[in-house]
Amino acid sequence: MKISISYPPITNEYGQKAMVSQNRNVQYFKKPTYLLPVIQAQAATKLKNNGFNVIWDDGNADLKSFDQWYKTLIELKPDLIFMEGTTPVMNFLWELSNKIKSDLPNTILTIGGYHAMRQPQETLLKSSFDIVIKSTNLDFVLLELVKEIDNKNLSIDSLNTKGITYKSTLSGDIIDNGGFKMVENLDSSDIINRDLVKWENYAFENGNFLQTPGTYSSSVIRDCMFGKCTFCRYNGPDLSFSKMSIKKSVDEYENLILNHGVKEIFDDSGVWYRGKDAIDFAKEIIKRGLHKKGCYFGFNTRFEYLDEETIKWLSRANFRFILIGLESGSNYTLNKLNKGYSMKEIRKNLNLMTKYGLHPHLTIMVGYYWETKEMLMDTVNAVKDIMFKGLARTLQVTICTPVDYTPYHIDCLENDRLLVDNYDDFDMSKVIVKTPIEHSHYYKAIKDMYSIAFHPKFIFRQIIFLFNFKKRDWQFLFTYSIRAIRRVKQHIFNLTHKSA
Ligand code: SF4
Repeated sequence: MKISISYPPITNEYGQKAMVSQNRNVQYFKKPTYLLPVIQAQAATKLKNNGFNVIWDDGNADLKSFDQWYKTLIELKPDLIFMEGTTPVMNFLWELSNKIKSDLPNTILTIGGYHAMRQPQETLLKSSFDIVIKSTNLDFVLLELVKEIDNKNLSIDSLNTKGITYKSTLSGDIIDNGGFKMVENLDSSDIINRDLVKWENYAFENGNFLQTPGTYSSSVIRDCMFGKCTFCRYNGPDLSFSKMSIKKSVDEYENLILNHGVKEIFDDSGVWYRGKDAIDFAKEIIKRGLHKKGCYFGFNTRFEYLDEETIKWLSRANFRFILIGLESGSNYTLNKLNKGYSMKEIRKNLNLMTKYGLHPHLTIMVGYYWETKEMLMDTVNAVKDIMFKGLARTLQVTICTPVDYTPYHIDCLENDRLLVDNYDDFDMSKVIVKTPIEHSHYYKAIKDMYSIAFHPKFIFRQIIFLFNFKKRDWQFLFTYSIRAIRRVKQHIFNLTHKSA
């Protein structure tokens, strides 16, 4: 049975491409960042390891136009195609499914992703997709599903696989098979087959890598062990939490460094290990001498998850990039988002990370439906203060857009806070909620925060860091900052051009 895991190139009217594989939010970029969709890559690997013929078909990373991508897909004639559906690209994927079905009527069209999995009926009613996979443990569910369909000679009249909703070809009815319960340990997930997913396509164009080639590891945590932030996709009854053993993960790091020459490894788990697990991981890296191979390590975390002892060990093991959600400088907003900490803890944590030479990267959002001018200024001022003091190295600002039926999205729907209802408008390129102040204030705040990268106080702080005589600080100033400046311009355009 031939299975294609497919990401069609989706280009908007400005020539920007949709970055669908990014774990949390879709954005359209002119100069795209190619992010390896980790669980999908693990799913492809699992299928291949079980003897199926798998096509890894990322039209974006393969630098194909839509027409090139489509022509190849039709020629390949897969028995089953899997795609990922998130709010801003749902209309596109629904239309695409109709087109594929007319050209390949016997191909089974399957979709996963956070929007589709939370509204499976909608997708099955509005499109030619046959099956919605409702689990983030895509690798396990897809394998069960494919095995069952293969055993039934490609019939989907009646399926038993858990964690799917499907259209029966026999009756035309939409049948829900209930949720998928993860009973296996994440150690039974498969480590990504790098050749299969053409890993080098993702190794260079990623602004988060200070050195290349970089890559994403197979995530050690599936979903998020916190899972409470209201805007986040990793928040919902459908999500579970499971983790991989340290040995299995470090084995992969060792292979990536020794056999693929990787110079930076990022783990894109919602939040990475904490406490004893994080320390044991660092110790295992050191025990195997991997901290001396010139490769940096990084991960996502949340404030409060790393204490001084942990940060000390991470630093010794050559960890560098720590991606962390500041979201807002307003305690009111942090509380509304259910972040579970305040600005006091944020500053304390950033001080520790900086003390041990880590490079925190802040993610910030603006445009919450309750955000007043004062709250917005709290954010801009806090971010300036943090960056000028050298407590974080890089930042990323986005417009908080309700997507994928997260609690924030549902709140906006139930309380009439949305200004638009076409899913195409949920692409994070403009504020789409009713707010207490004019939207122009949020766009200005975005420009102000991105402009910090050019401020003399920020540059001066980076020069001071050079006197630590650490390679990473020199790289940061002379290599990375040039790349970053290009990207900053793009980010400002992406997030503010619709306000002009
Ligand atoms: S800690 Fe991060 S990944 Fe976890 S729910 Fe909050 S925003 Fe999402």
